[in-house]
Amino acid sequence: MTRSSAFAPPDWIGEGLAHLWRPYCQMKTAAPPLPVVATRGSRLVLADGRELVDGVASWWTACHGYNHPHIAQAVRAQLDTMPHVMFGGLTHEPAARLARRLAALMPGDLDHVFFSDSGSVAVEVAMKMAIQAALNRGDRGRTKILAFRGGYHGDTLATMAVCDPDEGMHAMFGAALARQIIADLPRDEERAAALEALLAREGHRVAAILVEPLVQGAGGMLMHDAATLARLRAAADRHGCLLIFDEIFVGLGRLGAMSVAEATGVVPDIVTLSKALTGGTMALAATIAARRVFEAFWSDDPSHALMHGPTYMANPLACAAANASLDLFEREPRLAQARAIETQLREGLAPLAGRPGIRDVRVRGAIGAVELERIDDLDALKAAFVAEGLWIRPFGRIAYVTPALTIEADDLARLVAGLASVSARFGAALGPP
Ligand SMILES: *Cc1c(COP(=O)(O)O)cnc(C)c1O
Repeated sequence: MTRSSAFAPPDWIGEGLAHLWRPYCQMKTAAPPLPVVATRGSRLVLADGRELVDGVASWWTACHGYNHPHIAQAVRAQLDTMPHVMFGGLTHEPAARLARRLAALMPGDLDHVFFSDSGSVAVEVAMKMAIQAALNRGDRGRTKILAFRGGYHGDTLATMAVCDPDEGMHAMFGAALARQIIADLPRDEERAAALEALLAREGHRVAAILVEPLVQGAGGMLMHDAATLARLRAAADRHGCLLIFDEIFVGLGRLGAMSVAEATGVVPDIVTLSKALTGGTMALAATIAARRVFEAFWSDDPSHALMHGPTYMANPLACAAANASLDLFEREPRLAQARAIETQLREGLAPLAGRPGIRDVRVRGAIGAVELERIDDLDALKAAFVAEGLWIRPFGRIAYVTPALTIEADDLARLVAGLASVSARFGAALGPP
């Protein structure tokens, strides 16, 4: 990190930092975190007064930019009436309204919404639903989830087991993780045949096929097409298992549509949402099930109930924020903004293709990713972006941007140009291939 020498860090940094255990961070060697004191629009305001253009939208959440007054107002009003009540035995209008609206956004009969408080938990709930739906029908053999190389579905023990086996933490955690079935996405006929052969052997053990549709995010911004999803739908139907779309990253506007299921016409049995659900203000997630999944739990037998209930499930503040976020999707041209960002990303990143050290450039919706041959010094790359006034958080071999869909034209231009120029510079420094 570069910091002007005249700047004295605020007291809270020195007093608290030693006690903060940071995410994905070798605490001993990593550069210190940047202290943020305010957010506005697509900007982060640092303690020393600098402003960074945010290319990450706070882990893909802040789709309407920061501090949107409509969301702030909705949360404030909810705070005054009822910040929280437990959801066991009680219910409330913000949750009921949000569930109805989410069901209306989803295609087909994806009508039954289970709320939780993080994406990982939403995925675990989806996995649990799929396994228990089979159990409730008397099929005790379907206990496995089939997931894909390149995938990312969360950091909890159950979700680590369905992440990419190499990029994920399978090797490190070894036998501590459940053994799931990991395959290649059926991107072409050859891989489709391999998946079919796998399912011919293992299909009777599979409760659900789990996929991030169209873009695998944290696993490397890997992209596939709707035909791949159609193959998964057909395979799930042939082998009697469910299909789960983890839309936590790609749903709610990021790809220029409210849901990939709706945009592609490939309708899964369960969808998970989180990240942009509250427009980047509160923790909230949803697992949305189709009628036939719900019906597997609908019974006179109490043991057929879904036995799950996070303490802060359907938190009214978070539901109010999510309802306000959906208002904004209805009132403002968010999806058109995502498509305009896509155009600008394609134009701005295209010149990188084929440059030294650049392996690939990928754009889909408001996601632009540059894959380098390798990144030798991640901290140096991060610092180079900060020096350009940009907040971009590369990982693995990838530098990417996923800006707020409301980002101002000037800031977007700076972001795309900065991603391109810094990537080109770092790529060139890797030397000839
Ligand atoms: C971020 C993410 C998750 C995990 O969400 P958390 O809220 O971090 O637990 C799961 N699936 C996908 C596709 C994600 O991008």
